[in-house]
Amino acid sequence: MAPPKSKKSAAVKKLQTSAANGGRAPGGRPRKATSRSLYSPAEVHEIFRRFSVQRPEPKGELDYVNAFTLLVAVVLSAQATDAGVNKATKALFAAADTPARMLALGEAKVGDYIRTIGLWRNKAKNVIALSKALIDDHAGQVPEERDELVKLPGVGRKTANVVLNVAFGQHTMAVDTHIFRIGNRIGLAPGKTPEQVEQGLLKVIPAEFMRHAHHWLILHGRYVCKARKPDCPACVIADICKSKEKTTGIPAPLVPIAPLEETFPAEA
Ligand code: SF4
Repeated sequence: MAPPKSKKSAAVKKLQTSAANGGRAPGGRPRKATSRSLYSPAEVHEIFRRFSVQRPEPKGELDYVNAFTLLVAVVLSAQATDAGVNKATKALFAAADTPARMLALGEAKVGDYIRTIGLWRNKAKNVIALSKALIDDHAGQVPEERDELVKLPGVGRKTANVVLNVAFGQHTMAVDTHIFRIGNRIGLAPGKTPEQVEQGLLKVIPAEFMRHAHHWLILHGRYVCKARKPDCPACVIADICKSKEKTTGIPAPLVPIAPLEETFPAEA
């Protein structure tokens, strides 16, 4: 006889169905946003403690030399791979690593450098426009406030959060496709929009882990809790995870991962 369904598994199922339906109830009715994590504070702490043992100093995979080039790289990375962006920006940043130099380069030349990146025409336009805005409104410096960053051409909330976190060490959470998936799949911070997942994660992740939480979650989603098929036997939080998609409850050995062991899969 099948064991009775626990309340917990029913709750996980409900959240996962909601996420899969874009936050709609089965009948198509909009479902009330939920941001309740399925995990206790102790469980969340343990999840991030393990991530911190695996990758004590996680690095993003976009190359940059200062806050300005980080901002440009993140703008260029929309709907492109980090590896593809890095190939194009190597020469671009050697030619222009400040807003003034980028402006002097001009839209046509910027376009020549980034032609291998999707949507390059529009991105070249934005890179020039944001360089001009930085010079006109911020004395050539990248602002450290989200409200100012999102006013720049081509800069949305996610880009602003990456720059604030990586360049300025602020405790922000830039929710990309990986983080959105993990937040919902495992019920860490369920939400039907990236902003709901962002708010949920900011609420549950202990402050001591916020500096690197964004990178840990992205890398976990990119290499382990993958979109099509999570690699649960390789997962260090398999015993804590409450996803109904998990295939094992035995966690992988908790050992530090050298950055070189990570590859650059081609993905959207
Ligand atoms: S156990 Fe599987 S589903 Fe859960 S976080 Fe790990 S990889 Fe993802």
